[in-house]
Amino acid sequence: MSDRLIYLPLGGAGEIGMNTYVYGYGPEGKERLIVVDLGVTFPDMEGSPGVDLIMADAAWLEANVNRIDGIFLTHGHEDHIGAMAHLWPKLKAPVYARRFTAHLAQLKMEEAGLPSDMIRIVEPRPKAVEIGPFRVQFVPVSHSIPESSALVIDTPAGRVVHTGDFKLDGNPVVGEPFDPLEWHEIAHEGTGVKVLCCDSTNVFTHTPGRSESTLVAPLKDLIAAQKGMVVATTFASNVARLKTLAEAGRAAGRSVCLLGRAMRKMVQVAEETNVLKGFPATLSPEDGVEVGREKLMLIVTGSQGERRAATAQLSRGKYLGFEMKEGDTFLFSSKTIPGNERSVIRIMNALSEMGVDVVDDRGGLYHVSGHANRPDLDAVHDLLRPQILIPMHGEHRHLREHAKIAAAKGIATEVATNGTMIDLTGVAPKVVEYIETGRVYLDGTVLIGALDGVVRDRIRMALNGHVLITVIIDEDDAPLGDAWVELMGLPERGKSGGDLMRIVEDELSAFLESAPDKVIRNDDKLDEALRRIARQVAMEEIGKKPEVTVVVSRLMAE
Ligand SMILES: [Zn+2]
Repeated sequence: MSDRLIYLPLGGAGEIGMNTYVYGYGPEGKERLIVVDLGVTFPDMEGSPGVDLIMADAAWLEANVNRIDGIFLTHGHEDHIGAMAHLWPKLKAPVYARRFTAHLAQLKMEEAGLPSDMIRIVEPRPKAVEIGPFRVQFVPVSHSIPESSALVIDTPAGRVVHTGDFKLDGNPVVGEPFDPLEWHEIAHEGTGVKVLCCDSTNVFTHTPGRSESTLVAPLKDLIAAQKGMVVATTFASNVARLKTLAEAGRAAGRSVCLLGRAMRKMVQVAEETNVLKGFPATLSPEDGVEVGREKLMLIVTGSQGERRAATAQLSRGKYLGFEMKEGDTFLFSSKTIPGNERSVIRIMNALSEMGVDVVDDRGGLYHVSGHANRPDLDAVHDLLRPQILIPMHGEHRHLREHAKIAAAKGIATEVATNGTMIDLTGVAPKVVEYIETGRVYLDGTVLIGALDGVVRDRIRMALNGHVLITVIIDEDDAPLGDAWVELMGLPERGKSGGDLMRIVEDELSAFLESAPDKVIRNDDKLDEALRRIARQVAMEEIGKKPEVTVVVSRLMAE
C-alpha cells in the first residue's frame, strides 16, 4: 500500500476557537501523526451554562495514541493551548513550542499539578524538529500575541504550510514582523508549497490589515487629552498593546498600574523570555491607590465582559481600593468577540451611569485585528503559490468564502470542517473519511461529553424550574401521610392565588388516596402518575411544566 499525507481538523474548522489539527503520513490507517495546537473555546449562558471550558473531543487521538509523534503549539492564545492540561494527559506525546508559548504552556501544566518537562523549546527556522516522517520548522509571523508561528511541515509527499493565526505586520511593536523575504524563500525551496492550511478569520474584511504600530499616536493623543483617571482594557496576551498603552500613559505623566492576574502574568512571562523589553515601570495596586486620579492610568483585564475580571468589578463599584467617578475615562482597546456583546454593553452602561466617558473602538483608532484581512490573504496565496489550499480557523461561512477565493485562482481546495479527513497526496484534496468528533466540556473539574445530557438537564431545570416530590408507602402498600413537595425556581403563587406547593401537595395526596393498588405497588407507574399530576397542576397554575423528581420510600415489613 502506498503512503499518504492526511489532514484532519478536530477543532477550529467550522467555528472560531478550540483549534486542534492533525497531520499524518504513512500507509492508510497507520499514518504517523502530529497534532497542531490543543485549544479551548468558551461557554455561554445559552448553550453551555455553568460549563468552565470547551475543547475538542480527543477520542480519535486517544484511540490512535501510539501513532502520535508530537504536539506542536503555534502560539499562546487560549484557543490554541488552553486544553493542554486537560488533553495532554490522554496523549502524552512530546510538545514543541517556541520559548514564550512553551513558558505559558508550562505554567498551565504546573497549575494543574502535571509534569511540564515534556514541553520542548524550539528555536525558529532554520532550526527544525525531525520526528517520524516529518520535519517541522517554526516560522515567526505577526499576530496579537508575541512569538506566533506558522509551521512549515516537510513530508515525503511535499511541503505543508500551516499558517497558525497571523497578520501581515511589518512593525508589530513587540515581536517579529512578518518577513516576506523569508516566506519567498519558503515558497521557492525544493518543489515549493504543496499545501497551504490558512487562517480564514478575516476573509470578509476587504480592506488591508493595519499595523499594531498605527495605534501608538492615536492612543497617546487620547490619553494625553484626559483629565480624570484613565482605565484601559485589552486582551492580557496582547503584550504589544499593553506596552503601547503603558507608554502612552507614561508620556501623559501618569503612573501606570496593571490590574488582573492574567495581565501581570503575561508581562512577567514576556519579560522573562526576553520577548518584551523596556516595558515602563508600573505600580502595585496598593501603591496605585495613593496616586491622584488625574495622575493615574489603570490597564485592566476583562475586555470581553468577564464577570470576575477587573473591568466588570470596576463597573460595579470599588475594586482593590479604586473607584471610577464622573470625569474618568474608560477605554476598550479591543474588539468584542461575538457572543460577548451583551456583557460588554451592560458594563459600558454601568460605567456611563457613574459619569464615566466610555471610549470604544468604533472608529478603528484604538484597536487593530490580529488576523490577515482578505487582501492580505490574497498576498499570501500569491507569495506561496500552493498547489492546494485548505481554509482553517473559521466558521463554515469563512471557510467556504476562502475556498471560493482559492478556486477562483485555480488552486485546488476543499472545505474541511471538524472531523473531515482529507488525503492531500494527489494534485487535489480528497475527502477520505469522516471521523466522529465533537466537543468536550470541562464542568468544574470533570470532563463530560457535550452530548452526555448533563448540560441539557441543567438547561431544562434552569428554564422550567424543578419540583421534588417525596412520598412514603407503608408495609401494606398504603401511602403513609401526604405527599411532600419542594419547589425550586418556581413562583410561590399561581393563578388561583393559593400557595403552589400546597396545591400540588393536595392534588398528589388526593390521587394517592384513591390510586389503585397496582399503581401504588409499581415504582415506575407511581412515579409517572405523580409526575404527570405535578406538571398538570403547574401548567394550570403558572403556565409552565417544570422538571419533576419523584422519590418513593417504601417501608419494609420486619
Ligand atoms: Zn491567536
